[in-house]
Amino acid sequence: MKRGLVWFTEDLRVDDNETLLRAIAENDEIVPVYFLDELADKRQLNIPRMSKDRKSFVLESLNNLQHQFQLRGGKLLVIHGSAEKEILQCCRRFEIRKVYTKKQVGSEEKDRQSTIKEQLLKFGIDFETYSTSTLYHPDDLPFSVRDIPMLFTKFRKLAEKESKVRVPFDAPLNIVVPPIEIHELISPENGKPSWLKGGEDEAIKRLNHFIWDSQAISTYKETRDLLTGLDYSTKFSSWLSLGCISPRRIFTEIKRFEQQVLANDSTYWVIFELLWRDFFRFSFKKYPKAYFQLHGLDQQALYTQFDPSKFEAWTQGKTSESLINAGMNELRESGFVSNRMRQILASYWVFGMQQDWRYGAAWFEHCLVDYDVASNWGNWAYIAGVGNDNRGGREFNIEKQTQLFDKDGVYRAQWLTS
Ligand SMILES: Cc1cc2nc3c(=O)[nH]c(=O)nc-3n(C[C@H](O)[C@H](O)[C@H](O)COP(=O)(O)OP(=O)(O)OC[C@H]3O[C@@H](n4cnc5c(N)ncnc54)[C@H](O)[C@@H]3O)c2cc1C
Repeated sequence: MKRGLVWFTEDLRVDDNETLLRAIAENDEIVPVYFLDELADKRQLNIPRMSKDRKSFVLESLNNLQHQFQLRGGKLLVIHGSAEKEILQCCRRFEIRKVYTKKQVGSEEKDRQSTIKEQLLKFGIDFETYSTSTLYHPDDLPFSVRDIPMLFTKFRKLAEKESKVRVPFDAPLNIVVPPIEIHELISPENGKPSWLKGGEDEAIKRLNHFIWDSQAISTYKETRDLLTGLDYSTKFSSWLSLGCISPRRIFTEIKRFEQQVLANDSTYWVIFELLWRDFFRFSFKKYPKAYFQLHGLDQQALYTQFDPSKFEAWTQGKTSESLINAGMNELRESGFVSNRMRQILASYWVFGMQQDWRYGAAWFEHCLVDYDVASNWGNWAYIAGVGNDNRGGREFNIEKQTQLFDKDGVYRAQWLTS
């Protein structure tokens, strides 16, 4: 009897999941496992890493993954404890010969994977990782990750010209597992909006709504910078960050829409933004530690100080700027803000308050339901002028942004009431 263990992390789906399919193909039975320690309140610069909103989204996604397994005759084992402490015991209990998991990009996650791999190899258990979270597979890029261009435009042009997006894998029809005990996971009280519900089914629902039902994709390029409403942008980010949906599935669906209904700048622009996501992930592979440092990719940080009273004012929406206060309230209370607002809020922390950018990034990490290590720290470093931008960062003029995006005050009225 050959048994493989599939260690789930940020790939909480059965569709287009190469890790899962490989394990099924190479074994008689698989043991799908998630270690709930991922939810522990670890701290970054003394700020808790995960809000209740994100915890809740993770638990909803796990419950839905359990449902996906059950539909296929399988079960997901959820273990309360860290992978470092529990995985070996789990492998012994189920007589596992090989562990299959997603390749990580963050430095801590990569270090942890290496430690676990070494530990398992000592006991004769193989360990294999798969790249399952980007639009382009790293093996298909026309350069090695070591040689990834510093600037996005160069990366995008090369990738688009010389690589192809792979066809997504279909979900397995059957999943055979040994006897496994399961428990429903209860989400904590949280304030995230009702549309922001975790799980693969919800991701597919949102995909169908944005592309097919509302066809909001056909005006995305014009609406993507707005601040209020549901359909001005895709809202795919939270499901992408936990891997409830793959970017390749989104790409394939957009291509289908383009063939059957309409292809324009807007339909392309969603793919363009997914390429930004790829860009930060691949850059993180090259620089796994640099994005967490004050000087980023070896550049001079403009501001190095940290004033706790300024941090309190910024995070709690009590600055002298009403647009900033509205944005920070939305972020704290709902776990989501638009891309434009993220840029404005980050710029204000760095250039308006003249503070160490990393505290801002750590606060976003805490609040955002769609938190993604590469997209968050990569965008923050970019705005602070220490990332993939050689123009000294990006400063936004609050008055101009207010005139452009909240002239009538609707957004501020919504988020300044509490
Ligand atoms: C300071 C700052 C912090 C950010 N932190 C995160 C984060 O932790 N997680 C995260 O997923 N995104 C982050 N972003 C990127 C972007 O703001 C969000 O992906 C986007 O607002 C999510 O909404 P949406 O899904 O409707 O995006 P859409 O505008 O509909 O874009 C479609 C998809 O493209 C990707 N995308 C869009 N813009 C970017 C970008 N600038 N960088 C990388 N990917 C992008 C996302 O996966 C997104 O879901 C950050 C941006 C800034 C400026």
